[in-house]
Amino acid sequence: MGCTNDAPVEDSLALCLVAPTSPWKPKSVNEIAMDFLQYRPSPHFAAKVETLLMTGVDAIVADFDRTITESSSPASFWLLREVIRIGRADLVAPLDEAYMAASEELDRLYASREHEPHHTFAELSAICDEWWERAFDIIAQYRVSAGVFSVPFLHPDTSGLMPIRPGMIELMHGADAWRVPFIVFSAGIGDVVCACLRSYGLSFGRMEIVSNMCRFEEDGRFHGRLENSEVIHSFSKNERHLGGLDRFSLTNRSNLLLFGDSLGDAGMVSDAEGRTVIRVGICTATNPETIERYRQMFDVVLMPDEVDQFCRWISTLLLADQWKTED
Ligand SMILES: [Mg+2]
Repeated sequence: MGCTNDAPVEDSLALCLVAPTSPWKPKSVNEIAMDFLQYRPSPHFAAKVETLLMTGVDAIVADFDRTITESSSPASFWLLREVIRIGRADLVAPLDEAYMAASEELDRLYASREHEPHHTFAELSAICDEWWERAFDIIAQYRVSAGVFSVPFLHPDTSGLMPIRPGMIELMHGADAWRVPFIVFSAGIGDVVCACLRSYGLSFGRMEIVSNMCRFEEDGRFHGRLENSEVIHSFSKNERHLGGLDRFSLTNRSNLLLFGDSLGDAGMVSDAEGRTVIRVGICTATNPETIERYRQMFDVVLMPDEVDQFCRWISTLLLADQWKTED
């Protein structure tokens, strides 16, 4: 494992979290992180950890697809196609090849546009608005049953389409034990997120799901996205969507842990005045330019196989001393 960042590191925080060797010297947060991370954390990481150690973690905000779930997992939006692909036609009886063709055609139409470099952020946002709305429309057109979004094919004991990272499971349990709100913020399908977490027994009193929720007809058929809500997609995934949170409003929460796997996830919460956000990004890219962009956007960049150990370490470090009693 090599360190590829030569940037100076604020390394003032020294913590004795490892068994002393001779001669004894306490390890700093960054040194401990570098014991198991390929990329050195940002220069601000240690100072942010110090702040959260002193004042506590007020909330954890995490993306769902490929952040809470494994990197190889299908995104919730593409789950239906995966179910067809693996031959579970019994679960998706109303769907057929035509659904598959329409869905893939939509991807062909929009996926390349999403990466065209000449678009402004506003243009990209408009492209994704249209893409997401049309994706929901074709699901509605094929009259998908609510049962499709049910438990059986989400759990690893059945077909395991959406495995959850073990480290994330521990982080969620840790947050619940120490009364820290856990907000799952997803641009996917909220009903899939809820069903998947339920199937793992990961529904907690202090958990909120902020996502694109479905609307079902009386006969249980999918009818479209819930009305009166803005579509959440890669380019609109920002704190505006979290404004409706009642119990866990971020207004008075200054110390946040954020987890995501796409560059847009870094903007799920803002750096409001007086707020400290430790941003943790999971990066599957291998080209240096993309990795460098992740390192600019996140305080810590993790390779997929580092996520479990990091989650366990950060939850032990930051959640164990929480003394929160309020919601
Ligand atoms: Mg994701």
